[in-house]
Amino acid sequence: MEMLQASISIRTVSKLPFCYIRKSNLFSLREVGPQLCSCTGPNSSVSRLMAKDEMDAAVCSRPMEIEVKRVPRPKPRGNEALIEIRAAAVCRSDISGYLGKHPLVTYPNILGHECSGVVAEVGPDVKGLEIGQEVAVETFFELCGRCPGCRSGQYNTCKSPKIIGHNVPGAFAEYMLANASFLHPKPSNASFEEAALVEPLSVAVHAVKRCGIGIGETVAIIGAGAIGLLTLQVSKLAGAVVSVMDVVQSKLAMAKNFGAELVVDASSRDAIAKMLDATSGEGYDYVVEAVGSPQTLRETTELARAGGTIMCIGFTGRDVDEISLGKITLQEMKLLGILGFCRDYPTSIDLISRKRVQLKPLITHTFSLKETEKAIRFVIDRPAEVIRAIIKPRSD
Ligand SMILES: [Zn+2]
Ligand SMILES: [Zn+2]
Repeated sequence: MEMLQASISIRTVSKLPFCYIRKSNLFSLREVGPQLCSCTGPNSSVSRLMAKDEMDAAVCSRPMEIEVKRVPRPKPRGNEALIEIRAAAVCRSDISGYLGKHPLVTYPNILGHECSGVVAEVGPDVKGLEIGQEVAVETFFELCGRCPGCRSGQYNTCKSPKIIGHNVPGAFAEYMLANASFLHPKPSNASFEEAALVEPLSVAVHAVKRCGIGIGETVAIIGAGAIGLLTLQVSKLAGAVVSVMDVVQSKLAMAKNFGAELVVDASSRDAIAKMLDATSGEGYDYVVEAVGSPQTLRETTELARAGGTIMCIGFTGRDVDEISLGKITLQEMKLLGILGFCRDYPTSIDLISRKRVQLKPLITHTFSLKETEKAIRFVIDRPAEVIRAIIKPRSD
């Protein structure tokens, strides 16, 4: 009898090698062996799992390794909601997580944080949220509530946040748990794919607000990826005159379509001089760095005017970067950092509802959930072609 139980246990575990385990009121995806798992006896919940208690998920067990497998479908507790994911975009953080270079990402985990979906289930404390409601998910799962950032309302700088697709399971799955307080109604005129891009749009909104970009001011954007192109659109809405530089012609053409007054091929020899021409050589009021490379970071001080503001959205991932402090100090430039967004989702959703921004052209590729690793590799290998690749867990 004991032998029989042991073999059932091991077989069950080998089919379901991951368990959702509660740690400080959170689910985390943890690999468990048969001897460690307390829920694999023949009468246990795992053994009695039926198909509806499981889901497909792209599990990143360790860097550079993603496998789509059946895992237990999480149950919402407290103020949590279970979201049926309809669209999840592949962002640079997912790439860093996949490559093992993101400081916050834990393994095994499910990556993916730019997402939208439908409320499938709610925890007992959730109020004002209906099953079936279509939502855009803000990526915070839990904040400490005690640190200076949380207390001052600048919650994006929380010292110990739980963030979807980073240190709690994310959106490259059929279902995902979310904090109901960070769910926002999907604009009815937007597709789920577009609603997944509320996240990068909110980064652009946050950047423009933090800079204080206004009517008639000049903005230079380095990098015409999703963030650069969205910052261009939001800066235009604020009334700015915008120039964009990038090395990819198709992305520059898109920037032109979105209203850039000047686009410059960054690989051309006199790229900086061409950019400065638009300001009669004086430099820009604002320079937005949206690439995150040492070279483009150095270029920011060449493009800014005396007294101008440099906004660093791109991030090289290094502790110390080279930038001309001589220029920043002697020309009284301001250097601003940014960490995602904070209370910007409502603005982004309003802009989408009123058709003030174009998101559809940014969606260049779509993949199925089974193709998650292929999608991530595609974004890594062909950066010139991709603006945003979207993973769709179910085909409509
Ligand atoms: Zn992102
Ligand atoms: Zn905090």
